[in-house]
Amino acid sequence: MSHFETDAIRTQTERSQFLEHSTPLYLTSSFVFEDAEDMRASFAEEKIRNVYGRYTNPNNSEFVEKICKMEGAEAGYAFASGMSAVFSTFAALLNSGDHIVSVRSVFGSTHGLFTNFLPKWNITTSYFDTNNLDDVEAKIQSNTKIIYAESPTNPAVDILDLERLGLIAKKHNLLLVIDNCFATPYLQQPIKFGADLVIHSATKLIDGQGRVLGGVTVGSADLIREIYLFSRNTGPALSPFNAWVLSKSLETLAVRVDKHCENALKVAQFLENYDRINLVKYPFLKSHPQYEIAKKQMKLGGNIVAFEIKGGIDSGRQFLNNIKMCSLSANLGDTRTIVTHPASTTHAKLSEEDRLEVGIIGGLVRVSVGLENVEDVIEDLKQALQNE
Ligand SMILES: *Cc1c(COP(=O)(O)O)cnc(C)c1O
Repeated sequence: MSHFETDAIRTQTERSQFLEHSTPLYLTSSFVFEDAEDMRASFAEEKIRNVYGRYTNPNNSEFVEKICKMEGAEAGYAFASGMSAVFSTFAALLNSGDHIVSVRSVFGSTHGLFTNFLPKWNITTSYFDTNNLDDVEAKIQSNTKIIYAESPTNPAVDILDLERLGLIAKKHNLLLVIDNCFATPYLQQPIKFGADLVIHSATKLIDGQGRVLGGVTVGSADLIREIYLFSRNTGPALSPFNAWVLSKSLETLAVRVDKHCENALKVAQFLENYDRINLVKYPFLKSHPQYEIAKKQMKLGGNIVAFEIKGGIDSGRQFLNNIKMCSLSANLGDTRTIVTHPASTTHAKLSEEDRLEVGIIGGLVRVSVGLENVEDVIEDLKQALQNE
């Protein structure tokens, strides 16, 4: 078996008659058949081939095949966004009356899906706290089907022990579904630790330059078949253009993420030694409460650093106003460093109590460290802290 970087670069759809070196963009919504028998056999799925763009497309297949190799998965399906991957995975696998046990701090729209939309189909969710995996088993009910988690979590950068979650899921015969967006398949492969399905928002580090949306779910062939059948009937397919961009982006994922992590560690170390900061959270800092678990399951610490400025919400907002170079933006995992203040933006709708439960203190700032020269990033953060 070849290595991660080689798979990322050398996994390619078959060349056309033009013998192109890099994969062309297959901007076509449908494919033609030789004759009536070819058409019949293709529709009957006796032949594995491209039929219609809502089902498959060569660019999508190449992107999915790469992610499968990286995650150690049998099969996958690519979606128009990370959220369509999350929604379609639940919608395909759950029935009315089913129940999800999820970590409390999940991505905002995933929380919205659990709270506002899945209940319309009588699918309910109970939450366990990030730092209390003892709580998971207590939340399991007779109708529970899925344990759902993200690690590292957003925006508090907590780490969940994936191996332990895998054992709990196995013991209770539940599916473990992991949103692996913050780690990328380069840093962490949840299937190794017992996950049944892995979801990515490809919009983030996989694209890596803040240009296109995309999502993907990978796992066993049986589960992906269910997700595929649901999706080909409901239409959340990734566009071939975005698949082409994302597959190309995977060729450089390893080198980009290595550099993102190197820069993020330097930013975290700078912040740790700065006296106006109460707390710095970065998985590969020894001071991180789950440092040992992070080391066990991740290759490097990722590109997200969270820290708390003394002085609460007002200080967090002032810090953002002082920023000169870094971007104030909703994205993450971009080449450009992005700074956000969750308490007044993404998580502003939560009550203070709920916010504190998911680790979002008023002065918490989240930095998605980019690929600029890290000295310039640190300089910007430093002047913003000094001018408070
Ligand atoms: C961004 C994100 C999503 C949603 O992805 P989109 O591509 O924006 O739909 C899901 N999970 C996590 C952890 C994310 O950061």
